[in-house]
Amino acid sequence: MTSLDTSVSEIVGPKTASVLESEFGIVTVGDLVRHYPRRYEQRGALTDLGKLEIGDHVTVQAEVRSFKNLKNKSKPGSRQEVIISDGTGQLTLIFFNQHWREKDLVVGRRGLFSGQVTVFNNKRQLAHPEYELLDDETQVNAADYSAALLPVYPATSKVQSWTIERAIKSALVKLTQVPDPLDPQFRNQHKLIDLVEALNLIHQPADETQLAKAIERLKWDEALVLQLLLAKERRELELAPAQPRKVKPGGLLAKFDELLPFKLTAGQLAVTKTIEGELANGHPMHRLLQGEVGSGKTVVALRAMLTVVDSGGQAALLAPTEVLATQHYRAITKLLGPLAERGKLGAHDEGTGVTLLTGSLNTASRRQALLDITSGQAGIVIGTHALLEDRVDFFDLGLVVIDEQHRFGVEQRATLVAKAGEDRRPHVLVMTATPIPRTVAMTAFGALDVSTLTELPAGRSPISTHVVLATEKPGHLERAWQRVVEEVQKGHQAYVVVPRIASQEDKPADKNSRPAVALEDLAPQLADGPLKEVRVATLHGQMPGPEKDEVMQRFALGPTHPEGIDVLISTTVIEVGVDVPNATVMVIMDADRFGISQLHQLRGRVGRGSAAGLCLLVTDAPAFSRARERLAAVAATTDGFELAALDLEQRGEGDVLGRDQSGLRSGLKLVSVLKDEEILGQAQTVARQLVESDPELENHPALKNAVENLIATAQAQYVKKS
Ligand code: ADP
Ligand code: MG
Repeated sequence: MTSLDTSVSEIVGPKTASVLESEFGIVTVGDLVRHYPRRYEQRGALTDLGKLEIGDHVTVQAEVRSFKNLKNKSKPGSRQEVIISDGTGQLTLIFFNQHWREKDLVVGRRGLFSGQVTVFNNKRQLAHPEYELLDDETQVNAADYSAALLPVYPATSKVQSWTIERAIKSALVKLTQVPDPLDPQFRNQHKLIDLVEALNLIHQPADETQLAKAIERLKWDEALVLQLLLAKERRELELAPAQPRKVKPGGLLAKFDELLPFKLTAGQLAVTKTIEGELANGHPMHRLLQGEVGSGKTVVALRAMLTVVDSGGQAALLAPTEVLATQHYRAITKLLGPLAERGKLGAHDEGTGVTLLTGSLNTASRRQALLDITSGQAGIVIGTHALLEDRVDFFDLGLVVIDEQHRFGVEQRATLVAKAGEDRRPHVLVMTATPIPRTVAMTAFGALDVSTLTELPAGRSPISTHVVLATEKPGHLERAWQRVVEEVQKGHQAYVVVPRIASQEDKPADKNSRPAVALEDLAPQLADGPLKEVRVATLHGQMPGPEKDEVMQRFALGPTHPEGIDVLISTTVIEVGVDVPNATVMVIMDADRFGISQLHQLRGRVGRGSAAGLCLLVTDAPAFSRARERLAAVAATTDGFELAALDLEQRGEGDVLGRDQSGLRSGLKLVSVLKDEEILGQAQTVARQLVESDPELENHPALKNAVENLIATAQAQYVKKS
């Protein structure tokens, strides 16, 4: 009997089976019937040829208009030029030495034509396409089919849409009894059709209503299976034991609070309370803290770290770049003051050691840092990827904090977490400044609890953002440089951000576009030109650690200091977390080369203090282009959530969310993480209840099976990528 696990080779011939696997990874009947149509066409209605994109592999429904047999001039052989049409537009089919096709491609005949769209002599064509003529019978009986939708499948040059269609049809005929993961009661309750019917209808819908029913039902499967997986993960985490870390009255945290130069915002207080509750628990905390750039996540994390130190444990803070790790180290030692100097003269009794570990430490400092970590002398350990190395061995790791989580993969987080010891789990706090829309948080981080800091600390001035058209209005760019100089004269600092370091890096793919502005070119131009009167320095990721560090430190000193730097010309190394509150202006060159969230992050570097921030987005992008729209959106709002949603829409989810969850998302073919909020939310609730009452899904074997399949696919993808 055919089931979803039956091999496709039992349905189709070995050749088709093998290309289905190599082209689409289709191995089982289940894979095959979940290869859903990309679109549908009204049977008999011709494809709008005007909409085809150059370079795409397409399948079109069209009618033969003419057939020309042409002898080659300079070499032997012949060429066949066939024009097909949708009634208005035309497309040329090209064959070589195949004059016999004249028998097939009779004028007036309709068919499906498939191939890659190219351009030759200004005409769009398909070179040696595959085709399937619609049989006369179909045309004669068009009335029978008039309502039927013709599925068009994702296809390649090796497997045609109609081959897939046939394979699916034969599979569906044999798939009569499939265990339905959603039981009848549940389907009734949510008004969903059964699985076999849904599969039949999505591949062979008679009309849009049927199609909608099929999609609704199949989306439920996807959403529920994903949410079950996440609910199981979450439950496992909830049940795992962890050492409770309780606030110690009169301890380090209490002393720190006394020293804190500002009042926590209401949001910071609320999150802190939640975190304290979870740390005191006998199970590990797994919390995602998200908040606008500048909302003060670090202090919240630091208070959690101090709680753990107070209870005798260590806390590790992992940051994605050396600049950021170093800055965290400085900010934290500064906030802690004498509390950060255990072992040193004049240090506070309650104090702890704070250690920085990055790749650029010299041998002696590294040895010392490793020793402090192992001995427990360092209560707080801050570092980059260097923290993940084998030789880093903690005395008693109680809390892992990960800043800018999207810069790390699951495996990296897991490596740090594992340093707590084999049978012990640390508490985990991950932070992100890229706001995550609710639905995305629900899928990508479904196993985590989410806290959000929505307000900025009092006394922050708003940032105003403007688009500067470099070539259309060169005067505006000059004015921008003047503004930079004026700000410096007022005692502030400025950033100039460029998309890349060197000018000769890579040639642009499109020869009409000029190469992106490079640091090496712009810096001397500015230093000898518009920014002659101020002190500029450059910063980029390829500079040695100590050098970067020195530049950052001198930049922080600012215009009033003899050693200070006024204007920092840099690449995006300053994107994350850099905190120089006195910086007020940022000029971003070729701003159109950056993503929306990235621009939002970047400008978060200015306006951190009490003086108003200004961000200038310099661009050559033409009016009405997508790039200009993006920039206009960034200029129009400072709401990170709004921008994140827009970014997701424009760039696709994978790019924005980082790399770790793509395996799981491969289970989502019909569900859109952005648009299917309702189903995802309902599925989450249902999944959590189910896992609560039946953790191993013993009473739901079909669901259990589907969840296991998803895990297997996700793991397979993960292995393939690493
Ligand atoms: P982000 O959330 O972007 O990581 P940070 O934690 O770096 O933000 O905080 C930005 C700046 O705001 C830091 O200089 C920090 O000391 C300061 N800050 C944090 N909380 C407050 C507060 N409640 N009041 C005033 N300043 C604060
Ligand atoms: Mg930060």
